[in-house]
Amino acid sequence: MSNLERTLSIIKPDAVERNLENEIKKMFIENGFKIIKEKKIQIEKSEAETFYKVHETKPFYNDLCAYLSSGPIVVMILEKENAVLGNRDLMGATNPKDAKDGTIRKKYGISIDKNSVHGSDSVENAKIEIDFFFRD
Ligand code: UDP
Ligand code: MG
Repeated sequence: MSNLERTLSIIKPDAVERNLENEIKKMFIENGFKIIKEKKIQIEKSEAETFYKVHETKPFYNDLCAYLSSGPIVVMILEKENAVLGNRDLMGATNPKDAKDGTIRKKYGISIDKNSVHGSDSVENAKIEIDFFFRD
């Protein structure tokens, strides 16, 4: 059965800063994702706080929000069959040290906080996150 989905991907500041935008996009395209919309932006810390609200009780929340708003990011809507899980697989584990060969975080991630990419973790959150960045 066909199950075309959309998910939200972010190329985080550490990767944009190292000019990895095109390499990472190439990995998405080579893995069958279609980039439906994209924009390069810098967000306010308050916007990062809203985006990462699920993590507000975590000890890393403040640093995470400061980091995501610290420089330009590339936000993209990706489309593919089972895009949400497929993107999580392609990204690899949150900590690049644990990420498998062939994943974006294994290849480009620096550390658990500077792990190069974000990807929605469920179809429901994908809708919320896509709306957050592309509601216009
Ligand atoms: N993060 C962190 N320290 C931690 C756990 C997470 O800095 O101990 C950051 C990391 O950048 C991660 C983000 O918080 O990508 C969101 O955490 P989550 O558990 O949702 O990981 P993800 O879904 O990005 O793999
Ligand atoms: Mg997450």
